Amino acid sequence: MDQSVAQIRKNLEEIQERMDRAAGRCGRDPAETCLVVVTKTRPVEIIRAAISAGARLLGENYPDESQSKIQEIRDEGQKEVFWHMIGHVQSRKARIVAEQFDFLHSLDNLKLANKLNKVLTESGKMLPVLLEFNVSGEESKSGWDASDESRWPELLPIVEQIRELKQLELCGLMTMPPLFSDPKVVRPYFQKLRALKEYFETQVKGVEWRELSMGTSADFEVAIEEGATFVRIGQAILGARPPKL
Ligand SMILES: *Cc1c(COP(=O)(O)O)cnc(C)c1O
Repeated sequence: MDQSVAQIRKNLEEIQERMDRAAGRCGRDPAETCLVVVTKTRPVEIIRAAISAGARLLGENYPDESQSKIQEIRDEGQKEVFWHMIGHVQSRKARIVAEQFDFLHSLDNLKLANKLNKVLTESGKMLPVLLEFNVSGEESKSGWDASDESRWPELLPIVEQIRELKQLELCGLMTMPPLFSDPKVVRPYFQKLRALKEYFETQVKGVEWRELSMGTSADFEVAIEEGATFVRIGQAILGARPPKL
């Protein structure tokens, strides 16, 4: 177990260094980009090791699976970590996300937004959310389709509706582009998400469009060069992922 904490700590340090260098290359402040350590499908023992190694933002994809893991870690008195939902959430799972998570990267439909807002109203909790966009047009991807720039105006009424929801703090955009073996091939997708953020900055007032969540183990350096403020990295820190539990 100690060995694995040591290994994870070493991986974390290496990734952080690569993040800092990527920021340096393009004149960004390294402090602008936060690392979300993706723990989906990992057992609680590995999550504990990651926390001991210094991981503070943890990313989960599946509400049902994450719920018991989060509870177990919380029951141990762990208060220093923040849970980020990064996967597609069915609206019937909204309560789990509203109650257990500190941040939602993957808000991708109005039904979920409304349901979250309703559940959050009961407790008064605010949930920071990012809107997920599909910038590649790939059918298998979740997120609002933003592949065709000429149709971006159609997204504005959706954004306005979400902005009205009092318990959701809209603060940016997220994407999960197709995986390519050559990370540079994904650069145009990251550029497109940033361009969409800039479009919203001019079109939707009263929202601080701070965050861009983009980049995984495969391509986080390119994402940082293109403006990522969150990167979501699992396998480069915790090793090859076991299949979904
Ligand atoms: C799994 C996942 C990641 C992390 O992928 P790795 O290859 O483990 O770095 C990032 N973002 C999302 C949305 C994911 O589902």
